[in-house]
Amino acid sequence: MPKKRRPLSELEQTADFISRHIGPDESQKRQMLRALNLPSMDALIQRAVPDSVRSRGGLPLASTHTEKDALDYIRKISSENDLKKSLIGLGYHNTVTPAVLRRRVLENPGWYTAYTPYQPEIAQGRLEGLVNFQQMIMDLTGMELANASLLDEGTAAAEAMTLIRRQTKKKQSQRFLVADDVHPQTIAVMRTRARPLGITVEVDEPRNFGDKDAFGVLVQYPGTYGDVEDHSEVVKKIHDNGGLVAVASDPLALTLLTPPGEWGADVVVGNSQRFGVPMGYGGPHAAFFATHEKYKRSVPGRIIGVSVDVNGNPAMRMALQTREQHIRREKATSNICTAQTLLANMAAFYACWHGPEGLTTIATRVHRLTGILATGLEQLGFELANHTFFDTLTINAGDEAEAILYRARDRGFNLRLIDSERIGVALDETVERYEIEELWRAFAGRNEIGMRAAEMDAVASDGIPNRLKRTSAFLTHEVFNSYHTETEMLRYLHRLARRDIALDRSMIPLGSCTMKLNAASEMEPISWPRFASLHPFVPREQARGYMRMIRELETMLARLTGFHSVTMQPNSGAQGEYTGLLMIRAYHESRGEAHRDVVLIPTSAHGTNPASAKMAGCEVQLVDCAENGDVDLDDLKAKAEKHSSRLAGLMITYPSTHGVFEQAISEICELIHSHGGQVYMDGANLNALLGVAYPAEFGADVCHFNLHKTFCIPHGGGGPGVGPVGAAKHLAPYMPGHPFEPSVGGEDAIGPVTATPWGSAGILPISWMYITLMGAEGLQQATETAILNANYLAKRLSEGYPILYTGDTGFVAHECIVDTRVLQDEAGITADDVAKRLIDYGFHAPTMSWPVPGTFMIEPTESENKAEIDRFCDAMLRIREEARKVASGEWPRDDNPLVNAPHTEAGVTADTWPHPYSRRVAAYPDPSLKADNYFPPVARVDNAYGDKHLVCSCPPVEAYRDAAE
Ligand SMILES: *Cc1c(COP(=O)(O)O)cnc(C)c1O
Repeated sequence: MPKKRRPLSELEQTADFISRHIGPDESQKRQMLRALNLPSMDALIQRAVPDSVRSRGGLPLASTHTEKDALDYIRKISSENDLKKSLIGLGYHNTVTPAVLRRRVLENPGWYTAYTPYQPEIAQGRLEGLVNFQQMIMDLTGMELANASLLDEGTAAAEAMTLIRRQTKKKQSQRFLVADDVHPQTIAVMRTRARPLGITVEVDEPRNFGDKDAFGVLVQYPGTYGDVEDHSEVVKKIHDNGGLVAVASDPLALTLLTPPGEWGADVVVGNSQRFGVPMGYGGPHAAFFATHEKYKRSVPGRIIGVSVDVNGNPAMRMALQTREQHIRREKATSNICTAQTLLANMAAFYACWHGPEGLTTIATRVHRLTGILATGLEQLGFELANHTFFDTLTINAGDEAEAILYRARDRGFNLRLIDSERIGVALDETVERYEIEELWRAFAGRNEIGMRAAEMDAVASDGIPNRLKRTSAFLTHEVFNSYHTETEMLRYLHRLARRDIALDRSMIPLGSCTMKLNAASEMEPISWPRFASLHPFVPREQARGYMRMIRELETMLARLTGFHSVTMQPNSGAQGEYTGLLMIRAYHESRGEAHRDVVLIPTSAHGTNPASAKMAGCEVQLVDCAENGDVDLDDLKAKAEKHSSRLAGLMITYPSTHGVFEQAISEICELIHSHGGQVYMDGANLNALLGVAYPAEFGADVCHFNLHKTFCIPHGGGGPGVGPVGAAKHLAPYMPGHPFEPSVGGEDAIGPVTATPWGSAGILPISWMYITLMGAEGLQQATETAILNANYLAKRLSEGYPILYTGDTGFVAHECIVDTRVLQDEAGITADDVAKRLIDYGFHAPTMSWPVPGTFMIEPTESENKAEIDRFCDAMLRIREEARKVASGEWPRDDNPLVNAPHTEAGVTADTWPHPYSRRVAAYPDPSLKADNYFPPVARVDNAYGDKHLVCSCPPVEAYRDAAE
């Protein structure tokens, strides 16, 4: 870690990052404090943050001053990563990210700073990208329905297992069979997930499957050792027995292989990483999940569907949201909230860029080179373990195996050492013919091999059995056949990005989501090959830079929160919750109290909390909230008492989702401990605590941090995320392990929750950069400014709306709940109308109707300055005035700018204008917007229509226009 801060030099002052990250300058802060009648920031913090949680000590954190210094430093760290060509396979492959996608998507804030598309009118661009992704997956797998991504292949396989359990007719069986040639890390994640649900995962050869009683099976195609096997017999037997079949597959292989949907698969999962997404030492990448249409209500994660807007024009939005944890809570089908939207979009654009022919060419070339490699190895006297293959060979190398591995390493390649006698080699689109020759030399152990790869096309063996050669067409839609030149692609990407509101346009005041600045300098390192191009299973000595960066980040997070240890493995906040709960259960089990399985959760909790608790095998008991928004202490006491002997713990968000610091938090933690329970803190609101209070100090035992909220990893339009877990000393032994990495996890580690040891390691440099640039001083300033901004915003909005829950002292934390129900009472104007009208003002709506129905939860973050907050407040107060005009009868209740919002450009420029308000009022409600006004591409989207007529693919536009008529 860099050294402690020195006094700033003159030059450093001009380049100091803290003042670039924090929106308001000193004079704006003073103005806001004055508006709150407060003399100083200290006075505000004293009133907003209860004395009992406020920390006295400073933070022992080092930092740099400038972006240049931090980048120099992390570049040095990255240089400790040794970049070899990894042909390890195991589901991770080298890929060429088309430069146009790297610059225009991965490195473009229009794409990476957007939020999950809850407001479809301002998200049509990324929604189209996701529909492309779904279509691509449906085509490649041969299935009817695909979702818009999952976290990784391991968890996708686990989700397949649980979907099958929900859908199977064989309810009495608890056994799930997994083929012995499924990637080992996938099996390990499935075992972790199966255990708390009482499912037994049994690994065996698929040919034995038919004789066993099981509710479902998972096979892999091609297998982890490379074989391309015909599983249709297995499928038939399983189906005859009443079970269902999941298949893990590879999207590039499926351009050449008969898709699993054509031989009877019920679910197909996999990873789309090799479609242009860097390996990043483990992630993030978009996993996929495809199944039959009849299971649509049971599919985990999000499905994007095509609906219509009020004018009957096609419009996309998240379909079937009634399945989600937000609504179904402990009855949800999964706890997925943040997924992998940015990476799903990347993979889909890679398919658009290459088109079906380009992808087939890439796959054919990879397969041919594999055939050449195979033929050459046989000529050199090596025995191949597999005779069918797409891109992967397993070589029986006897006692030469290890020597070959090291010789290959000397020539710059990482191969897979399967066991002491077998070597695996997986080729990819980056491999050249001369590299095949290098591999032969490594195997032969000499330079002279007497073969030229360039001359072997004719004798290369074909690894795909005839009956498994793909005959069906795929990616025939226009979108996959139109953007093959850079000019066309550039414009397509720009066209889509222009349709959306991301942070590059205006503030996104989504409460609980912390949409703060994602600084360019923080983003830069993730594109460097020494971070981006490492395979997750390279030998540790090649990843020294990663090890150092990860260790440092763990230490920083531990110091910031007071916890003993931190794991980076969970790749979302919800995944962190799940991890923490499993650790709590393991702790109880170690003390002979495995029966402790009741988790108390306040009703104000995020929907992922109860969903995660269910996945961890717990029973959820809800605890009421009091009038003032705090946890109802009497109800908590009663429930803790009632379930005392079975109490596993409490899940509590702090500060609460009501936007206040509860006074009683320490007392609450003590109460739970006195009943033998553990306290899980949902750390999504950590942006209100850093440098001001330590969760470990006021009694939390384990907590997740959303690096994609507080620590500046961008939301990517709905992922990626990272949800590290911090734990007190007594829970540290249960930190999740990994089968390939003994150094990961505690001594009594729970199984892996993610397919790779450090989850989405590739984006950890973002948070490392943020903390390093801010240091203790900057982070404390950020927290204080976030609290100031929220209180100033609450104060201004209180002129027009009631502010719910303001703590004992009349102050909120870093977000506030604004009650829009007054408009409903007065004028029949709903929260939805206000949200859509905000679009006309150029804003993304705040978090809606959660945790209180009919309200907005607003979080400005520290990155927005006073001018932007004022602009937002002005819009909200103008909307208040507009509602008054409806209430007074000046505008009819069914025809006014609120119920008709958002207004499209086509609408306000139409030849006729039938409304009782002017076009100017519709289009330019804030006159200052004129030059930069945003128009959504569609009018208000009809959610119900789309759910009734579910379409999740890309039909030609005309097809659904007709449907609406
Ligand atoms: C965002 C959030 C979560 C879930 O985090 P993901 O990373 O989206 O899985 C959980 N709880 C709260 C309070 C949140 O705001």
